[in-house]
Amino acid sequence: MHLYIRHKEFATICCVADNDFVDISKLDIDDHHMEEVWNSPYMKNLRLQLINNEAPDACHVCASQEKLGNIHVVKAGFNSNIKDRDLLLRVREAKNNNGELNKFPKNIGWDASKTCNLNCVICSPYNSTMWQRNADIRYEIDGYNKKNAPPKDTNIESIRKFVPYIKDLYIAGGEPTISVDSLKLLQYCIDYDYAKNMSVSFNTNFTCYNPKFVELISQFKSCHLNLSLDGHGAINEWVRVPSKWAVIEDNFNKWKNEPKLSNVQLIITAAVSIYSIMYLPRLFNWRNNSDNTLVNSTCITLNTVYGPGFLNPYNLPKDLKDEFNKNMLELKFLNLFETRKTLSYIKEINNSSPVYKDYYLWLAKLRRYTKNIDERFNLDSKKTFSELIFLHENND
Ligand code: SF4
Repeated sequence: MHLYIRHKEFATICCVADNDFVDISKLDIDDHHMEEVWNSPYMKNLRLQLINNEAPDACHVCASQEKLGNIHVVKAGFNSNIKDRDLLLRVREAKNNNGELNKFPKNIGWDASKTCNLNCVICSPYNSTMWQRNADIRYEIDGYNKKNAPPKDTNIESIRKFVPYIKDLYIAGGEPTISVDSLKLLQYCIDYDYAKNMSVSFNTNFTCYNPKFVELISQFKSCHLNLSLDGHGAINEWVRVPSKWAVIEDNFNKWKNEPKLSNVQLIITAAVSIYSIMYLPRLFNWRNNSDNTLVNSTCITLNTVYGPGFLNPYNLPKDLKDEFNKNMLELKFLNLFETRKTLSYIKEINNSSPVYKDYYLWLAKLRRYTKNIDERFNLDSKKTFSELIFLHENND
C-alpha cells in the first residue's frame, strides 16, 4: 500500500526502515518510472517475505520494539485494516504473482523539505535547515562530518506523478506548515480536484500558525496533525530549541477558533529521549487538566528516539526506569487506544537494556552534547532537568 519518498528523491519502504538494507533506496524517483520502483526485485521479495510472516532486515527497529513488548505499529495497522477489500485483493495478487503488484501505492509519505525554524536536540542537519547552521556542535559527538552533507530536497515534479493514485498523503519535514514545496503540493491536489477524496497527515512542531496552510488543509477529505511535543513548558523549550511554550499554547487557541477545520484531528506525538522521558507524566497531566478543549481531547502517542544512540531512553538507569513505570501507571489516559499504546510503551522501556555497554562513555557523550546545546542556545540544563542528577557533571 505504501511507499516513502526521502530527501534526495529516493524511494524506500517506510519512514522507519533502515535504508542500509533497502535496495530500492538507490532508485532515484526522478530517473525511474514508478513501475520500476514499485515492482523492483527488492519490493517483490519484500512482499513475499511479509506474506510468509518473515521479518525483513530493514524492519529491525519495529521488530526489536515488538520483542520488548511494544505494539508493532505496521502489524497493528495491517490487522485493523485486514477487512479492507483493497488490501485483501493486493495480498492475493502479490501472493499469486510472485510478489508483483499492478496497483500502485495509495499511501505515500514524503520528506517535503528541510526548511525548519527549530533545532530540536533529537534531530540533525540532515532534516533541518536550522540544524545545518549549528552542525559543528554535532560533528564532534557522533561523527556527523562534512562528507555527510545534507541531501537535496525532493523535486516537486517527481512527487506529482504519484498524486492520481494517492488516498493518504503523509508530509514530513522540516516543518511542513512553512515549506513552500509542501504548500505547492497541497495546492496542486486541490487544483486538480484530488483533495476532496484524499486524507493528509503532517508532523508539525506547532510553533507556526500559517493561515495559508490552514486554508489548504480545510479542503481535504480529512487531516491528521501530529504535534511534535516532547514535554510540557520548559522541557519542550529545551529539547525543541528555540521554541516557546506560550506560542504553542496560543496556537491551540487559534486552531480552536478556526471554523473551517472540522476535518482535522490533532495527535500529540512525543519523541521520547533521555531528556524527556522522566517528564512525560507532566505532559499527560497538562493535557488532562487543560482548560482548552482542543488540548484535552488530543491523544498522546510515544515514540522512542533511536538515534543518536546516546539520546535513546533505553540508557536510563534502572532505578529511574522503575520510577518512570510507577509514575506512568498513576496517570489517566484518554481512551482505549491511548491506554493500549501507552501501556505497551511502558513495557518497551521496562524491558529495554542500555544501548551503550560502557556507562561512562555514554555519560561523557551525553554531557558533552548537553553542554554544547546549553552554550550555543544560552540554555540552562541544570535548571531545566534538575531531577536528572546523572546529566550534570560532578554528580557521580
Ligand atoms: S521540528 Fe522536526 S525537522 Fe525541525 S528540527 Fe525539530 S524534529 Fe527536526
